[in-house]
Amino acid sequence: MRGLMMDTPLLISSILRHADLHFPDREIVSVTADNPQHRYTYAECFRRTRQLANALDKLGLSQGDRVATLAWNDYRHLECYYAIGGSGYVCHTINPRLFPEQIAFIINHAEDKWIFTDPMFVPLLEKISEHTPQVEGYVVMTDDKTMPETSLKNAVSYESLISGERSDYMWPEFDENVAVALCYTSGTTGDPKGVLYSHRSTILHAYAGVAPDVLNLSNRDCVLPVVPLFHVNAWGIPYSALMVGAKIVFPGPKMGDGEALFHMLEDEDVTLALGVPTVWLALLQYADKAGKRMHKLQRTVIGGAAVPESMIREFGEKHGVVVCQGWGMTEMSPLGTANTPKAGMESMPRDELYALQTKAGRGIFGCELRIVDDEGQELPWDGVAYGALQVRGAWICSDYFKLEGSAESHTDDGWFDTGDVATIDENGYMAITDRTKDVIKSGGEWISSIEIENTAIAHPAVQEAAVIGVAHPKWTERPLLIIIKAEGQDVSKEEMLAWFDGKIAKWWYPDDVVFVDEIPHTATGKIKKVELRKQFANYELPTG
Ligand code: AMP
Repeated sequence: MRGLMMDTPLLISSILRHADLHFPDREIVSVTADNPQHRYTYAECFRRTRQLANALDKLGLSQGDRVATLAWNDYRHLECYYAIGGSGYVCHTINPRLFPEQIAFIINHAEDKWIFTDPMFVPLLEKISEHTPQVEGYVVMTDDKTMPETSLKNAVSYESLISGERSDYMWPEFDENVAVALCYTSGTTGDPKGVLYSHRSTILHAYAGVAPDVLNLSNRDCVLPVVPLFHVNAWGIPYSALMVGAKIVFPGPKMGDGEALFHMLEDEDVTLALGVPTVWLALLQYADKAGKRMHKLQRTVIGGAAVPESMIREFGEKHGVVVCQGWGMTEMSPLGTANTPKAGMESMPRDELYALQTKAGRGIFGCELRIVDDEGQELPWDGVAYGALQVRGAWICSDYFKLEGSAESHTDDGWFDTGDVATIDENGYMAITDRTKDVIKSGGEWISSIEIENTAIAHPAVQEAAVIGVAHPKWTERPLLIIIKAEGQDVSKEEMLAWFDGKIAKWWYPDDVVFVDEIPHTATGKIKKVELRKQFANYELPTG
């Protein structure tokens, strides 16, 4: 027997309609290329979004056509999200930090028809435009006054595109499984792969995101997403925040600027900030140097890479900010786990709680997790056994765009293989030990490069640490620790190795330490281990 409930499609336009009615006065504050402090309300945002939707309908697009954005986090980018997706097109967010060839590749692979770009990326698009002939036109996200001279085809400023458009718009109704957004992985090997989100997956993911044990978002929050709108939909914030009517602060091009972030947090009364560890490093370093304390921020969600315990402590002890580590991936919309205490854990000794917080967190409802061995057999949740981490759920990709199963990313029984290696403890807390490709195999046993890195980074003289496996005649591979020293600090190899005493297993100690000025990063800020392995391919570890 079927239930007798309305079959209302889960479409992102329903978030706009709800937010417009309930939170018209809520503010959205942005830094943009043409305005250091733009401020308006939800009501104004939605009026302009409807104008943009009307303008898009005049561009000769068909339902499902891809319209790309190449932009930082600001209000116009948010308007694009809703106008493009809400009217039945697909919003393809492009990461400007990719190499120009990769950007051209994904524009062509996605078959983007129009591109919305920040003025600062116009030269980049001009450089590759001869390789992307199918793009029909470009919208530069500024007004006519600051519109740059450009050779780009049919280039028009954003403000002139929407000005004169009607501010009413009937959001179309369609199947909730229709695609809404497209984001490419910044694969370290091979071509980037497209992940195509649906309206349904996006709404379910946004519902999951607001829950108390996930982002804990409410109408009373002010949110600063330092995670880019071009990286997995800024972890769903454009949808979750609007769903509850939270105030939003967009940092625009100031994402890596510790001082600018600090002032946004304080001046706008931000309660929740989200980002990868690297941006928080910049913020904490600024606060430390300037001798300042954060007074307003209550909590921060950190993910995208392992969060060192030293960062969790610094946020907690110096600034009174609670860190919630999260884990996920582009293929997962991205939320998979969040690290919040379970009942009874609040009273744990502080050191134990900090140690727990270094884990990626508990699986959130809607995303099932399992770890399996090489034969695909499920491994126990004992915090010790480690294996390939697999997931399934309504906001996990079932395939990549136009790859038709050729990526072989799914198991026969329908789970997505994340490419991460993890443990899960008795309480369900998952910890990433490595990417499958980065695992160091020493004498047949696995060594977790992430755990060594996290231990190293806690040393006050270490700014950044990376650990890779280097060939070893007896053990197959042994860990090599690569370090950037913190400004004005010094540490010797011997002091560094002594630092590991009592902190990690003896046989995990790196065989050698090298000091460098730079560690290569991917376009989403992760350490590029493939590059490091190439760089140190012929490295000879000390013998004896
Ligand atoms: P992306 O698709 O660019 O968001 O990258 C996803 C990958 O980032 C995951 O598969 C992990 O390898 C890594 N990652 C994300 N969150 C964490 C975390 N909390 N700890 C360790 N690695 C993480």
